[in-house]
Amino acid sequence: MASEWEIVVGLEVHAELATATKLFCGCPNRFGDEPNTNVCPVCLGLPGSLPVLNEHAVELAIRLGRALHCDVRPSVFSRKNYFYPDVPKDYQISQYDLPINVDGWLELPSGLRVGIERAHLEEDTGKSIHVGGGGRITEAGHSLVDYNRSGVPLLEIVSRPDMRSAEDARAYVSELRAVLVATGVSDARMEEGSLRVDANVSVRRPGEPFGTRCEIKNLNSLRSLGRAIDHEARRQIALLEAGEPVVQETRHWDEDDGRTHTLRSKEEAEDYRYFPEPDLVPLAPDADWIARVDAELPPLPAERRARLAEAAGGVPTTGAVAIAVDRGLDDLAVAAIEAGADPGRVLTHVEHNLTMEGAASLDPVKLAALVKMEVGGELTATQAKTVLAEMVETGDDPAAIAKAKGFEAMSPEALAAAVDEVIAANPAEWERFVGGDDKTRGKLTGFFVGQVMKATRGKADGKAVTALLRERAGA
Ligand code: ADP
Ligand code: ZN
Ligand code: MG
Repeated sequence: MASEWEIVVGLEVHAELATATKLFCGCPNRFGDEPNTNVCPVCLGLPGSLPVLNEHAVELAIRLGRALHCDVRPSVFSRKNYFYPDVPKDYQISQYDLPINVDGWLELPSGLRVGIERAHLEEDTGKSIHVGGGGRITEAGHSLVDYNRSGVPLLEIVSRPDMRSAEDARAYVSELRAVLVATGVSDARMEEGSLRVDANVSVRRPGEPFGTRCEIKNLNSLRSLGRAIDHEARRQIALLEAGEPVVQETRHWDEDDGRTHTLRSKEEAEDYRYFPEPDLVPLAPDADWIARVDAELPPLPAERRARLAEAAGGVPTTGAVAIAVDRGLDDLAVAAIEAGADPGRVLTHVEHNLTMEGAASLDPVKLAALVKMEVGGELTATQAKTVLAEMVETGDDPAAIAKAKGFEAMSPEALAAAVDEVIAANPAEWERFVGGDDKTRGKLTGFFVGQVMKATRGKADGKAVTALLRERAGA
């Protein structure tokens, strides 16, 4: 079933900007404060109050726009009119037909380039909390509203429908989050609501035009995002295969029952009666401002991955390269490789052995020295891992740590002798090893390596032992 259908996904992401104050007033932009303490007449929508645009929010909007390769355009704020208790003015100030950023793209670690339609500025709403009835509005006893979030600056980042799976969508959100954090535009914490995702999902048979989409709300983790897209695609495929149409609507993801439910249909969709905000002038950042933002952009994750991959010289380890950048270990890895360390081994350490805190401040020259000891056969992979952990903790030289731990090199002769002794001590197993098929051999390799490790108190190199066993068995 799955192979006959293609999933199409476009995402709308809301990111709260990391400004000190709100978008149109001087109230603090801070998460987690006592409810309704960071408020004033402007963000409470009191009559006669007027908005004043926060310059730093505009700077951050331009910064993200440029990081996503968008054109920064003259833009206009508009009123989006609707009634809801957490929107005290009865309208939200947003950008509509003239957004600040248009036509960009974001490149994912897989190489997929997802188009960015627009990334516009708007204010956040307050936060409603429904008390009782499991937090559902229809069953709650009463509702509370916190206006601390009212007027917090947001960027709404709208992708083109360029993703083809739940995995693409998750990778897109991870990458976007990495860009938001790297540029200091947002702390992008899904669990605190400073990054929120709505997913538009449709299905089609490959080659056909796009199908009718549904928009899914309430995705507050990468896991929910992936599950909701897969569930929604299956629901649509089942409908189409039963000869029924998909109806365009907004659906709500229910994490508990693992399904999406109708929220409102296209017919019930609100008409927001947008019109230009009369209390704000059009926004037209000049070329110098944009050029300065460009010049100050930090290296972005995609660039950093490319730089490490190039330093690694075509070692086929895309996964490890992405992980290195994710954990902020790419500068270390590049410097260690430039200091002469084997790229493959450096990336293996980054991926598997440098997961502890403080790993990024490791001295790359010392990391290179460790890798050289390992490649030269002075340390086994297991010993190298132990030494590395201590290097991160103490900052000491690998040679000194290895010596203190008694990790002397085993000569090839000593290793061969140890292997031969273990073979002689286990004749029945050896016979099965020599005469066995790949599977038996595989199992018995583990046994023999274990015995040699025991005999040498962990000093033997497992790979070298395996090679010797094969050689002795004449394979
Ligand atoms: P609207 O005008 O209702 O906001 P847009 O055309 O701007 O709709 O699209 C909103 C989001 O839906 C975008 O992220 C876009 O990529 C996505 N989208 C549009 N068409 C489809 C489709 N057929 N399948 C999946 N996603 C879609
Ligand atoms: Zn305020
Ligand atoms: Mg749109």
